[in-house]
Amino acid sequence: MADENSQNGGQLTPAPKCPICAKPRELKYRPFCSKRCQQVDLGRWLGEVYTIPVTELDDEDGEEPATPPLRRSRDD
Ligand SMILES: [Zn+2]
Repeated sequence: MADENSQNGGQLTPAPKCPICAKPRELKYRPFCSKRCQQVDLGRWLGEVYTIPVTELDDEDGEEPATPPLRRSRDD
């Protein structure tokens, strides 16, 4: 059986793509494909997409709250 899952467009939901990089997105990080794209999008919201430190990306594959608390840089 061929996978006619994503071929017959119409009724089934077309494979959603990451709005950031257009890769197939992960359920974990929906609607993005990865934590990173999630961060990128968040960065856009904050208007500092180009200054996001992509260093403390913990791979949390747990469920995240709808509105994750924005982690500001630690206080000195
Ligand atoms: Zn992506």
